[in-house]
Amino acid sequence: MSDDLLTVRGLVAGYGAGAVLHGVDLTVARGSITAVVGANGAGKTTLLRALSGTLRPAAGRIVLDGADLRGTPVEQLVRRGVAHVPEGRGVIGELTVDENLRLGGLWRRDRADARRALDEVYQLFEPLVRRRRHHGHQLSGGERQMLALGRALVGRPRLLLLDEPSLGLAPRVVAQTMALLRRLRDSTGLTVLLVEQNVRSALSVADQGVVMSLGRVVHTAPAARLRDDDDLRHAYLGF
Ligand code: ATP
Repeated sequence: MSDDLLTVRGLVAGYGAGAVLHGVDLTVARGSITAVVGANGAGKTTLLRALSGTLRPAAGRIVLDGADLRGTPVEQLVRRGVAHVPEGRGVIGELTVDENLRLGGLWRRDRADARRALDEVYQLFEPLVRRRRHHGHQLSGGERQMLALGRALVGRPRLLLLDEPSLGLAPRVVAQTMALLRRLRDSTGLTVLLVEQNVRSALSVADQGVVMSLGRVVHTAPAARLRDDDDLRHAYLGF
């Protein structure tokens, strides 16, 4: 078994005729957190959409655990362990917290383990227990974030694609979310690809930092180096 869970080579994707990703290369180690950072419009969200199957890539390779998955439909990618928590989080407002969470495990054949995973998520996100029968639209931003993450975890993903989890959250909740990702990585070996505007907090939790610009990966480095090296930060992140 290779140490790399995900290898992306020459990925081209976009909307209609125009490409947004112009040949993305990326390698993600098993059991690691990778932060994808870069200016607005660099293509970070588009990259996650292409990896999750919600956007069909025009060219390139997406290899997960040795299998080329480019062009695989979303439902099959989910079965292979790819979970996507989109920007805005995709919580269904008309369903209860419990129903939202159960959706994350509906497809699983191992019903006993799906129930176990659900129990684990309630242990992980205690506030959701009280909210169990409330509808998605009644939740606060932080609770919605928990719910979206929880729903993804009920499916026991191998690769978690997280788009802007800190969006609209109080700094305290952002810190809690980042700490949780680290705990999950350490305790379950979860692999995370994290897209964030909040560069500092993303690089503080990540193992690897990937900088995107104009639809390409322009720099890859250990996250701590990217965070602490003034020259690198100025050159690639502008702060
Ligand atoms: P941001 O943080 O602003 O979302 P990003 O790095 O995630 O930035 P993307 O959202 O991937 O960037 O957007 C990259 C480019 O693709 C932008 O020029 C954007 O206008 C364009 N784009 C994004 N979504 C669509 C869409 N649904 N249809 C057409 N163009 C889109």
